[in-house]
Order: sequence, then structure tokens, then C-alpha cells
Amino acid sequence: MSALAEIIRERIAASGSISVADYMELALAHPEHGYYRKQDPLGARGDFITAPEISQIFGELIGIWLAQVWMQMGGGPFSLVELGPGRGTLMGDLLRATKKIPEFHECMTIHMVETSPTLAHAQYQRLRYEHPRIEWLDRVEELPDSPTLLVANEFFDALPIKQFIMTDDGVRERRVAWDEAAQAFTFVEGPAGLQLAKSGQSIPPGTVMEQCPAARSIMRLLADRLQQCGGAALVIDYGYLGDAHHDTLQALCRHQFHPVLRDPGEADLTAHVDFSTLMGIARDAGLQVGPLLNQGQFLVRMGAEMRAEMLLKHAQGPQRDLIVTGLQRLVSPQAMGELFKVMAVASRHDIELPGFAL
Ligand code: SAH
Repeated sequence: MSALAEIIRERIAASGSISVADYMELALAHPEHGYYRKQDPLGARGDFITAPEISQIFGELIGIWLAQVWMQMGGGPFSLVELGPGRGTLMGDLLRATKKIPEFHECMTIHMVETSPTLAHAQYQRLRYEHPRIEWLDRVEELPDSPTLLVANEFFDALPIKQFIMTDDGVRERRVAWDEAAQAFTFVEGPAGLQLAKSGQSIPPGTVMEQCPAARSIMRLLADRLQQCGGAALVIDYGYLGDAHHDTLQALCRHQFHPVLRDPGEADLTAHVDFSTLMGIARDAGLQVGPLLNQGQFLVRMGAEMRAEMLLKHAQGPQRDLIVTGLQRLVSPQAMGELFKVMAVASRHDIELPGFAL
């Protein structure tokens, strides 16, 4: 048994079952053995690959989006924030694509919000010569009070979720226990929990429901900050609109699905993002909220195909294949194009969110 599995097992032995959120938090962020703490999980040799690692076009178009919004805001000093920047690839592509926009780089201070020291170091290595003002923060709470342009790709899916399950006698929390006979972690039903938001709703027994308290509190904080200081945000992730009535917890290990409770700390654990809740929080804070777009739609509207054609003019041999297959993976409905969604919010209602107008 791994050191982290042993720690979790002991905790359960001492004080009983733990919530799915606590399990996820320990598996991903335990200070010594957590998944994001000890290794670089991204890329071909890692456990999963993300859009910025697939094609430079992704980060470039996000850079164009942010710069267009900044110009509509009238320019001026701002904080460019990325949540969970991975290897710093998106930020590097974004900076390169916006270099020629007058004053954009001069006006920005970059804030990278990253909990993993390993990844923060990789970001530093990648970006230290790209911009004179880059600061690293552990937590969203530490962001400065300044006009903000923010991007978060595959960040919200890494935040710990709670799960609940409908039973014949009401909703109970789904928790994680240790099965001594099987020598494995297992799901158990906890005491009655969760008050259902909509009373009178008939949810079939066996339905799993999810809640992400961390996503809610981060979104609330960001929405208030944007409302007070001005700015806009782009959130990209796999997720859905509508009720959070599905079990979306999943583990990936070396590009393969993995049993979610096996090998904590060795596999990546994520849950799909409940965009309805995040958009509702932004709306309640008074922000402009664009319609939720598919990643494919968004990138094509931002000019992904034209950008690929430009890159092809200067590419040869295998490079050409990479450009073409990279674009396809990002936009095609069979790959990431439909599963991944893009949410945009802005403090001002008169700003046109590029790519979001009908
Ligand atoms: N955005 C990158 C990486 C996605 S992986 C890309 O698209 O390639 C998730 C990232 O979020 C990692 O950098 C991870 O270390 C970071 N992360 C996870 N939980 C976090 C938290 N609570 N606070 C800050 N960063 C977090």
C-alpha cells in the first residue's frame, strides 16, 4: 500500500468514513504525497494531456480574446491572472500572440495561482524571460485588488467535490470508507445530508448528486473582485449545464481510466464542472455572463482555422501533421470540441465578449 493510502486508511480507522471531497483533497493536494504535489502529470508521458499542450493555437486565441476585452475596457494597468497554469504553456503562447498589441504587455502584471511547487517551478522555468512582472500565489484569496483579466483551463475540474446519493429514505452523503476484507477503499452511505434545492423534485433512488463547495467559493470571490475592480474571465473545462445529478468523478492514470478509489495520489482525480452553478454565481454578482459555448465553437469563432492555415504556410513535414491533428483534437466534436465548454463573464455589460455574440 502506498504511503498516502496508508495515511487515508489510518484517518478513516481513527474517526470513521471521510467525504469524497476530503478523499479528493488528500489524493490531489496532500503536502507530501498528493498527486499535484509530487509530479508533473501533464503531457504525453504524464497521465493526461490538456488543450494548451495539444496546440499553440489554444493559448494564442485566448490571448487575443483577453486583449480584445482589455481594449474595450479602455486599456490601462491590469492583473493578468491564470488559475492552475500547469506547465505555463498557455501563458507562454498567450504572451507571444499578444506581443504586438500596443501597451498590452506594459500594462500587465501576471499572477499565477498554483498550489503545486513542482508545477510552479516548471512555470517559472518556462516563463521567466517572457515578462518582467510575474508573481506566483498559492491561493485565489491573495490576488490583488486591481482590474483583472483571468483565464482558467482545466482548473475547476480539479477542485474537490462532495457527492450525495438518493436513497429510499432521502438524500445521504456518499462517503469513503475502508473495506478490510477487500483491502480497498469503498463508497458507503453516510447520515442524511443535503437539503434539496428544489423541493418536490422526484429524483430516482440511486441517483448520485454532486456539489463543489470550493468551486462555489472561488467563483464568488472572483465575481465580487471583478464586479468591484472591473475585468473579465474565461473559464474552460469539461462540464455541463443543468442539475448536477450525475456521478462524474473520474480517475486517469497514464491516459487510461482508473478505478476512482484505487491508488490515491498516483492517478489524477477530476469531476465535471457544474457550469449552471458557476454562471448563476456570476449573474448574482451583477456580471455579464455569455452563453456557454462548446470549445470547438469558441475556437472556430475566434479564428482557429485561419490561424492553423497561417502556421501551415511556415511548416514542413511532420510539423504540418501536428498542426492539423492538433486543431482537430481541439475543435472536433469527437475529441474535445463538444465535451469542453467555455464560459465568459465581464464586469461591464456593454463589453462585447469576443466569439460569444450570436
Ligand atoms: N491549466 C493547465 C493545467 C491543468 S491541471 C493546462 O491546461 O495544461 C490543473 C492545474 O491546477 C494544475 O496546475 C494544478 O496544480 C492546479 N491546481 C489544482 N488545484 C488547485 C488549487 N486549489 N489552487 C491552485 N491551483 C490548483
